[in-house]
Amino acid sequence: MEVDSINQETKNMKRNAVLVDGVVLNGPIIDSCAGEKFVEEVCRILMNEVVQKATDSSEKVCEWQDPEQLKKLLDLNLRENGETHQKLLQICRNAIKYSVKTSHPRFFNQLYAGMDHYSLAARFITEAMNPSVYTYEVSPVFILIEEAVLKKMIEFIGWEEGDGIFSPGGSVSNMYAVNLARYNYCPDIKEKGLSQAPRLVMFTSEECHYSMKKAAAFLGIGTHNVYFVKTDDRGKMIPEELEMQVDRAHKEGAVPFLVLATSGTTVVGAFDPLDEIADICDKHKLWLHVDASWGGSALMSRKYRKLLHGIHRANSVAWNPHKMLMAGIQCCALLVKDNTGLLKRCHSAEASYLFQQDKFYDVRYDTGDKSIQCSRRADAFKFWMMWKALGTMGLEERVNRALALSRYLASEIKKRNGFELLWEPEYANICFWYIPPSFRNIEKGPAYWQKLHQVAPVIKERMMKKGSLMVGYQPHQDKVNFFRLIVISPQVSREDMDFVLDEMELLGRDL
Ligand SMILES: *Cc1c(COP(=O)(O)O)cnc(C)c1O
Repeated sequence: MEVDSINQETKNMKRNAVLVDGVVLNGPIIDSCAGEKFVEEVCRILMNEVVQKATDSSEKVCEWQDPEQLKKLLDLNLRENGETHQKLLQICRNAIKYSVKTSHPRFFNQLYAGMDHYSLAARFITEAMNPSVYTYEVSPVFILIEEAVLKKMIEFIGWEEGDGIFSPGGSVSNMYAVNLARYNYCPDIKEKGLSQAPRLVMFTSEECHYSMKKAAAFLGIGTHNVYFVKTDDRGKMIPEELEMQVDRAHKEGAVPFLVLATSGTTVVGAFDPLDEIADICDKHKLWLHVDASWGGSALMSRKYRKLLHGIHRANSVAWNPHKMLMAGIQCCALLVKDNTGLLKRCHSAEASYLFQQDKFYDVRYDTGDKSIQCSRRADAFKFWMMWKALGTMGLEERVNRALALSRYLASEIKKRNGFELLWEPEYANICFWYIPPSFRNIEKGPAYWQKLHQVAPVIKERMMKKGSLMVGYQPHQDKVNFFRLIVISPQVSREDMDFVLDEMELLGRDL
């Protein structure tokens, strides 16, 4: 529109203005034109600075600043008046600059990494459409897509039928499972609360994710009622030890109700022996939940799905496609074998303003009451889009490639002087020590371990300040600080694996 005619329109609007409490109510009060231009410019920045630059291995993986310095750089204060677009675009560039480039091929720090372009595009769409997945009327596309994705995941677990819901994380999926198992054991608890329940005990391995403890605390089970089962030297739950713990609970007069097995432990990447654990669950009538948040994606690979042998015997499964499959945080499913509506009976509150039963369409598509949430993100869409784009074969190829690279790195570690592998990787977790030259002739006594304990934190500091690499470290059980490197992204190559070892040597050889 010409400037003159815009002015004319403004004049007309003012002349016909409807005022309430001194506020003009005619027309919108936001400048859509300027807003649209801003979105366009930010999209351009996103393309250049994130989609292209943040995945380029010649760029830095992180731009370290200590918190006080970063506070100044970011100009965090919120003021009376808004900032100019120019300033806002600079803020966007800064937000990108000082954020960690988790899609960078040298980012091995966490159980997620890399960039999948199709799921990213799907995320743009869901951000723009801003749906909330509770009813078909407000979210028709994403409700149907979630149903289709859950169905496919259920098929990969090996169940004929099932149910499920996308949740805001593996931790939350595990909480769901604990709540479901308890409700299944004593349905009265939903209405009458904890006072109706006996002392309930759940079992998991020493290597389980910390969300098990959180779930027990949050749901009123109590962390003392989580019995931790010993693991073998590979980090797998020992079935005989599980049975001993179940007997112990019985002897104490407590009531065992749930076993939480892990497929792909967080630190070591170990897979519990599901078949043997399922036998024990059958015998003692315990709910079996498999936390496959990390390892579930091995189900996509014909070569590696045997790691989860027996998973079809589980009552519920947590599986995060945002980890190994790169569907973008968050993308986490809780899957349930029950097909009688247990998930909904356990969590529903039948809000009459949302889930009216006299709607004009099939209200079975209003799935929101299965959830503990009200508003819920359309997380299934990005996974579905990626699966559409790559096909099952493409997803399988990625898993196989990540695991092949892990094996390559493990074999290089064994060949190189100054590196020591802690475990042969079963999955994509490679755990190792870097041993500086000055340590190599010291006898492996307490003094040695104490000294070695201090190496990983120093190398970590140096890699982050340089911005060349991100790998996590931790002490674990009786092992002093070691690196845990996670391989996921198809952008990572053999050259990056060699780079990691060269770079660690460079950063730590003077220690
Ligand atoms: C990552 C992980 C979780 C937690 O998942 P979030 O989505 O981060 O909450 C739970 N269990 C295992 C084994 C994990 O690796």
